[in-house]
Amino acid sequence: MDLVILNGRLVNFEKNRLEAKNIGIKKGKIYTITSAEITGKEVVDARGHVISPGFIDIHNHCDYNFHTGNTDPFETSRHLLLMGVTTSIGGNCGSGSVNIKKYFDFIDTYGAPNNYMGFVGHRALREAAGIKDVYACASKTEIKVMQQLAREAIEAGGIGISLGLEYSPGASFEEVIQVCSVLRDYPGRLISAHFRYDGNRSLEAIRELVDISKETGIPMQVSHLNSGVCFGYASEALKMLETARQEGTDVMADAYPYNAASTSAGSAVFDEGCFERWDADYQDIMVAEGEYAGKRCNRELFLHIRAKHPDTRFIMFVMDEKEVDEVMLHPLVMVASDGNINNGCGHPRTAGTFPRALQRYASGKRDEALICMIEKMTRLPAQRLGLTMKGKLTEGADADIVVLNPKELKDNATYDNPVLPPSGIEYVLLNGKIVVEQGKILNDRGGKSIKKIGNHHQV
Ligand SMILES: [Zn+2]
Repeated sequence: MDLVILNGRLVNFEKNRLEAKNIGIKKGKIYTITSAEITGKEVVDARGHVISPGFIDIHNHCDYNFHTGNTDPFETSRHLLLMGVTTSIGGNCGSGSVNIKKYFDFIDTYGAPNNYMGFVGHRALREAAGIKDVYACASKTEIKVMQQLAREAIEAGGIGISLGLEYSPGASFEEVIQVCSVLRDYPGRLISAHFRYDGNRSLEAIRELVDISKETGIPMQVSHLNSGVCFGYASEALKMLETARQEGTDVMADAYPYNAASTSAGSAVFDEGCFERWDADYQDIMVAEGEYAGKRCNRELFLHIRAKHPDTRFIMFVMDEKEVDEVMLHPLVMVASDGNINNGCGHPRTAGTFPRALQRYASGKRDEALICMIEKMTRLPAQRLGLTMKGKLTEGADADIVVLNPKELKDNATYDNPVLPPSGIEYVLLNGKIVVEQGKILNDRGGKSIKKIGNHHQV
């Protein structure tokens, strides 16, 4: 073997238990899983540790820094890697670049910290079609341009189209249907969607997303459900998703285990009415970067930053924590970071989501709780994305693996210091090679692009 992992306890989803086995890895794949003694050129002793498939982060913004060019292109991706993310899905919330091919080419040349898949964003399509005002409706011609650009991005290997309806209030239901209908020609694609409204209008927004999926026939991944509905609407929203699925509409969701959200100050999210929607006030908003980093807002600071520094991100402490837990534990919800770190600033979810979810919902509980949470980070997103060789520990599967110490698991990132790496993620293997050892990155170029071409994935 190229590498063996000995004496660990492996996650087995079929049997819903941890099993003491050795793993042998050859040429980037899991070659054998056995109770027998095996040897390899490299040995990882995993005694006392749990072996999980590598985490698949189905919702983040890992490609944002590359396309904006305003910082190290892999900054977000490295924080994701340190918490065990081996496959990262960028381009979400409508922001994924129209030129997705550019990032694929970059990774194909230089490698990346994680394997990468990406969405093309509806907001980016609107901008490329020449729509400057987010409150403007698209004309027929502009919709045609968007459809053509969407086709090109999908044919370059994009996994689907992401929507950011809260950021582009002018986009009508009809426009969205027409743009997303392009995906009907490409099997296995997804729509991911940042809802049109959060807080007290979130249920009508979830309804719209269900209707988009129903109308187009394309599976719908509702993005960061927590930040939409954890304002007294979580139970009802989850019921809506359950009912939609029973009626044959393929909707699922993802969420991150924090009760604060984050986005750019200049976005439409903070336009008139946001505090009413959230039942919140200026003091519930913290500035995440720049001159006023760490400060809570008052009316003056809020307006000043929105007007003068619209790219500055705010962190909004507006969700109900119990409801966040309810969302995270629901079987239709996957764990995803929504991560985006820029020059060391941002929300701690980028560096903490996965270990935090494991610690918060599984620590000190029976093994089943840990397996259930790991499934939301591995098998479920793999199935959602059609990644048949990932998200599981079986012979022949890709050797993307996390060795974790369940007793030490902890997110350390905070709102004051959002980039502190977690504890308890002992080893991360990516495409069969050790890339993280005891919290240190050994190689941040082991990741490959995963393009969806035709009906299958091309690595
Ligand atoms: Zn979003």
